[in-house]
Parts: sequence; structure tokens; C-alpha cells
Amino acid sequence: MSLFDDPWFASGELATLYGEEKAGRARAIRDRARQFCKEEAPSWGEQIERDGKIPEALWQRMTELGFHKLTLPEWAGGEGLPLALYFPILEEIAHGHGAIRMVFHAYNSIWRTLEKGSSEQQKYWFPRLVKEGRSAAFALTEPDYGTGIDLHTMASEQDGHFVLNGRKHLITFAEESAFITVIAKMEGAAGRGALTAFLLTKDHPGLELENMAPMMGDIGCTHAILTFKDCRVTKDEVIGGVGNGYDVALHAFLDQSRAGIATSMVGLSQEALNAALEQVQNRKTFGKALVSRQAVQMKLAEMQIAVQSARLLCMDAAKKYDQGEDISVEASMAKAHAISASQRVTDDALNLFGGIGYSKTSPVERLYRDARSLWFEEGTSDMQKMTVAEALITHARRQKRRARHRAHSGAGE
Ligand SMILES: Cc1cc2nc3c(=O)[nH]c(=O)nc-3n(C[C@H](O)[C@H](O)[C@H](O)COP(=O)(O)OP(=O)(O)OC[C@H]3O[C@@H](n4cnc5c(N)ncnc54)[C@H](O)[C@@H]3O)c2cc1C
Repeated sequence: MSLFDDPWFASGELATLYGEEKAGRARAIRDRARQFCKEEAPSWGEQIERDGKIPEALWQRMTELGFHKLTLPEWAGGEGLPLALYFPILEEIAHGHGAIRMVFHAYNSIWRTLEKGSSEQQKYWFPRLVKEGRSAAFALTEPDYGTGIDLHTMASEQDGHFVLNGRKHLITFAEESAFITVIAKMEGAAGRGALTAFLLTKDHPGLELENMAPMMGDIGCTHAILTFKDCRVTKDEVIGGVGNGYDVALHAFLDQSRAGIATSMVGLSQEALNAALEQVQNRKTFGKALVSRQAVQMKLAEMQIAVQSARLLCMDAAKKYDQGEDISVEASMAKAHAISASQRVTDDALNLFGGIGYSKTSPVERLYRDARSLWFEEGTSDMQKMTVAEALITHARRQKRRARHRAHSGAGE
């Protein structure tokens, strides 16, 4: 079994880390995902591109295949897969149409804000998500302000309730979701401790949903503008306590999701590379197949190195996450690197196809468009680099302080 047949399981490392039984279960689901992508995903993809929407039957099919509950806890009826066993399945799904990948992601990642929720919230929602095949949505980004502590959806405390006012946009599958996690800022508070996470259903009084215009790629996915007008929320609808919204957004959801989006870019890029490899073996110019030219071979090798290095960063983040480590830096590194890798690979794949690659009939045309969405989801490359740089500089300053402290106490001895 080579790296090219089975990049995640070939080494046997995952079976050693997670046990033969659990790894075997994940591998069987991965094989089911591989079969789905080969036999069913192309016709779902064609239908979505043609109609501009995801058919209800696709959501149902994903549920029939058990793809909606891979990471949800076993006590609630989910598979309870650790991240490093879930990622090989996600990578496989990302070979298919972007909307299918997005549905899969919405099912298996966004519910995680509730890992910081109360046991009542978990007991209510987790079994429902499994049983009813429902997904969740996450609302952070705003049309008028920056992300994080700059956001301006405000929550004020009134008569034992919270009242939300403000706007969010680009919120994926808000319309289809069982619940939406909304990150807001407490009136009068400042810094990271000002953020609080709220759990709302889309029909909550005072919340209006408006669907946005279709996007460039991931055709069929819905994205909404959410407007909160004196929207009253009870204390039971707070996730993780008042002032803990940063922790809910970043550590419960974004960290693992960023690594997941990076894994999706690995799958998409591998698909683009596979298509380009097929094309250069078939296409002849000046009497020889393109694949026999050394310049083309170098390009193929560079593409595979880019994909594999991105995959390894995802794997590193996943294994550390499963051990309970804080992976903010690892997830941001994985995401920033996967953006560069997918940028390079989808561009090279289109070039290797020649002009026909630019046609709507070519397999790389859609991959090129769908890759672009992944660069934005859970933050741009700049945003990931800001996280890495902040951690790097903080560490360097701490080292300096420690060295000064050591020198100082040494001098005093
Ligand atoms: C398909 C799709 C689905 C999405 N789904 C969701 C969702 O479900 N929920 C959700 O909350 N959001 C969602 N988003 C939003 C997405 O997370 C944001 O678009 C992304 O994080 C960038 O934020 P922004 O759009 O506010 O860009 P801006 O903050 O306006 O940034 C614009 C540019 O400036 C750069 N920039 C910003 N601040 C700085 C700075 N301080 N220094 C240097 N450069 C800076 C950015 O890197 C970017 O290149 C989605 C976006 C897309 C495209």
C-alpha cells in the first residue's frame, strides 16, 4: 500500500494511535466516502451546477450514508471519530463537488460550539442532530465591521434577558440549520472578554434572515444576512457563559474547523492534480505525450509535494487536537499553507490542461472556482499569519524575559 493509494492509513500510524478497531471503522467509512465520490458525487454535482441549488434528496442521501454524524459523540448516537480519523474521510469527500463538501462540513464541524455548552444544551441538541439529520450554522462575520473583537452585533442585559442588535453576513446554511451560534459583544465591555456566544434558531423573534446572491464557486450553497432587531434571548441560550464567546468561537469551533478547511483544500488539490496527471498522459504535442517532458514532470512533482506537505500539517494539528492540546497555531499554519498549496496546484492543473481546461466541461474549471471559497472560510491567509506571528512574537518576548530573569537571579547569587 503506497502513499498514493492511501496517504493517511498507509503507514499504520493511525491504527497504532487510535486502536485497530476505531481506525478500521474510520477506514471503512472512508472507503464508503470514496465510493460515493466515484459513483454518485459526479451526478449530484452536475445537477447542482445546472439548477444552482442543493436538492433536498442530497441532504437525505448524506444522512442515509451516516455522513452527518461522524464526529458527534457516541452517547448521542454519533460515530465519535477523533479528528485524525475524521480528516481522511473529509479529504475524500473534498474530491467531489464543493457543495457536497460544504454540507459534510456543516454536519461534522459546526455543532462543536456546543462542546462548550451546558449539559442541558448538549442533551437536547446532539441526539436531535443525529436523529433528524440536521446541521448547524455559525455567525461571526459582519458587513460593517471587522472580525473578532471589532464586531458590532451588540448584546445588552435587560430584565434578566439579553437583547441583540446588529448584522451578520455570509452565514452558510443559516436557512437550513437546526440552530445558529451567534457571536456578539456585550454592551459596555471591551477586549476578548466582551464576546459572548448565543444559540438561536432561525425563527427566533427579532431575527430576520435574507438570502444572499449566489457565489462564484460552491454553487448551490446558501449564505444569509442575519439582522437582529431588539432580539430577546434568554440566559439559557448563552453558550459557555457570558464573556466566553472568544473561547467558544476560537477553541471550540474555529481551531478544528480551520484544520478541516485545510484538509478540504488537500482533497480538492489532490483531485485537481489527479485530473492534470490523466490529461498529460493522454495529450500529445510534437509527437510525444506531455507527461514525457521533464518540465511537466517537475511541475507534477512540485504539485504533489505541495499537497503532501499541507496534508502533514493537517495531520499534525488533528493529532494534537485529539490529545487535548491548544492547536490555534497549528490550525492557522495548516490553513495558510493549504491556501498556498491549493492556489498553486489548481493554477498549475489548469495550465497543464491547456486552453481546454478553461472550458466549463473540464474537471479543473470547477475545482479552480471552488478552491477560492476555502481560502476565505474561517479566515484569510493574512488572518492565519497574524495568529502565527502573534504567537511567535509572544514566545520570543517570553524567552527574553526569562533570560533576563535568569541573568538577574544569577547575578544576585
Ligand atoms: C463561501 C463563504 C462562506 C462563509 N461562511 C461563513 C459563515 O458561515 N460564518 C461566518 O461567520 N463567516 C463566513 N464567511 C466569512 C469569512 O469567514 C470571511 O469572509 C473571512 O474571514 C474574511 O473576513 P471579511 O470578509 O470580513 O474580510 P475583511 O475583514 O473585510 O478583510 C478584507 C481583506 O483585508 C485583510 N485584512 C483584514 N484585517 C486586516 C488587518 N488587520 N491587517 C491586514 N490585513 C487585514 C483580509 O485578510 C482580507 O484579505 C464565509 C465566506 C465565504 C466566502
